Amino acid sequence: MKSDAVIYIIGAGISGLIAAYELEMAGYSPIILESSDEVGGRVRTDKFKDYLLDRGFQVLLTAYPEAQRYLDYEALKLKKFSPGAIILKPGNSFIIHDPLRNPLKLINMVFSGVGTFLDKIKIFSLTKSLEKKSIEEIFQEPSQTTLQFLKDYGFSDKIIDNFFKPFFSGIFLENELNTSSRMFKFVFKMFAMGHAAIPENGMQQIAEQLKNKLTKSQIIFNSPVKKIEGTTLYLSSGGEIQADRIIVATKPDKLIPQLSGQFKAGRKVINIYYSIFHSFVAQPMIALVTDPQFLINNLVFMTDISKAYSQNTKALLSVSIVKPVESIEKLEKMVAIELEALTKIKAEYFEHIKTYLIEEALPQVEDFACTLSPTNTKVLDGVYLAGDFLLNGSINAAMTAGRKAAEAVILSLQPTY
Ligand SMILES: Cc1cc2nc3c(=O)[nH]c(=O)nc-3n(C[C@H](O)[C@H](O)[C@H](O)COP(=O)(O)OP(=O)(O)OC[C@H]3O[C@@H](n4cnc5c(N)ncnc54)[C@H](O)[C@@H]3O)c2cc1C
Repeated sequence: MKSDAVIYIIGAGISGLIAAYELEMAGYSPIILESSDEVGGRVRTDKFKDYLLDRGFQVLLTAYPEAQRYLDYEALKLKKFSPGAIILKPGNSFIIHDPLRNPLKLINMVFSGVGTFLDKIKIFSLTKSLEKKSIEEIFQEPSQTTLQFLKDYGFSDKIIDNFFKPFFSGIFLENELNTSSRMFKFVFKMFAMGHAAIPENGMQQIAEQLKNKLTKSQIIFNSPVKKIEGTTLYLSSGGEIQADRIIVATKPDKLIPQLSGQFKAGRKVINIYYSIFHSFVAQPMIALVTDPQFLINNLVFMTDISKAYSQNTKALLSVSIVKPVESIEKLEKMVAIELEALTKIKAEYFEHIKTYLIEEALPQVEDFACTLSPTNTKVLDGVYLAGDFLLNGSINAAMTAGRKAAEAVILSLQPTY
């Protein structure tokens, strides 16, 4: 088939945009159908009042190999987090500097509040061993829960409770560290090899940059697809489209009747934004709340990372909650009271800006992987899957999956002699 093959991509998230880019590189002009009004999918930033609000706190890890391949970091004006974390406890907060990279440089006194001397040695040896392993090797290792891995590796309960649980709960969006040790090692390696960062003007800039790389693709917004049968697309608006190839760059179970019930519900997170006169953190660092009686998992002053997140003189605070919450009604008040307990700053000073409840923040993956063969993206004749749910919940995985689906489509359109 020639390069005029009619290729539709469903979803203009990171995965769909990468699939479109790869198809363009091979000479095709795909059409993306996107149900919402902009690109980005789960990487969206709202301009609200005077603020930039990412739809859920998230970061780009600069060591992601796929991000290095596709993104122009300089143009994104990445703003980096300082490595490490602030441990926030009522009346007692302290910083752990760069625990994943320079554990031996940690000041004994400070670190002993978080872990033991042996923990420091263990972090050092884990960092060194993961530096030597490729990402592919990491994902081929046996999978166990992260918690079990940490215990088997010999980490103390102290460091697990004081650092690993709060830090990685905020990344995995679950509190028990049940997520695969493969994902833990991958993320640990990425933190050790690079930085956590956000684009100066919000996470959606990542998707916008990918969109701007597209020159031959068409993106049709506000176009939800209802169903796919064979290579026919049925639009929610009533239309019907015949395609030569389709890439479904979103969870496909609701679109393809044959896949119904095959995917678990995703992991949730609640993200509450407040403004306040000054940052009580006053440095570009994440703060972790380790005490289990608090709802708050972590908080970040977005304006400490990038000033552009606030167009007024106030600081913008992002608070993430991973624990199950019965209702989000009045949650912002309860969380402001927790903030008061942690910082002694009166709850009323935290002005609520917006709350996001993100139901499908991360996919629940059975078999964590970092890559797949293009042929494994095929689900039906002419229909291919892309999206983080195929591999693991990360921007890196969404990019890999998008490329692999495009490769499969390109291969399927090669003339056979
Ligand atoms: C709160 C939160 C925190 C995160 N933290 C991090 C982090 O720190 N680091 C990291 O690397 N990753 C993080 N992630 C994960 C990362 O954002 C995702 O892995 C990635 O964005 C997934 O991209 P995707 O293209 O696979 O899917 P999506 O972004 O979900 O894109 C799917 C697209 O398809 C569209 N769509 C869906 N159904 C239809 C339909 N029927 N018709 C047409 N269009 C449709 C959607 O509107 C969407 O635009 C986080 C995610 C969230 C939400």
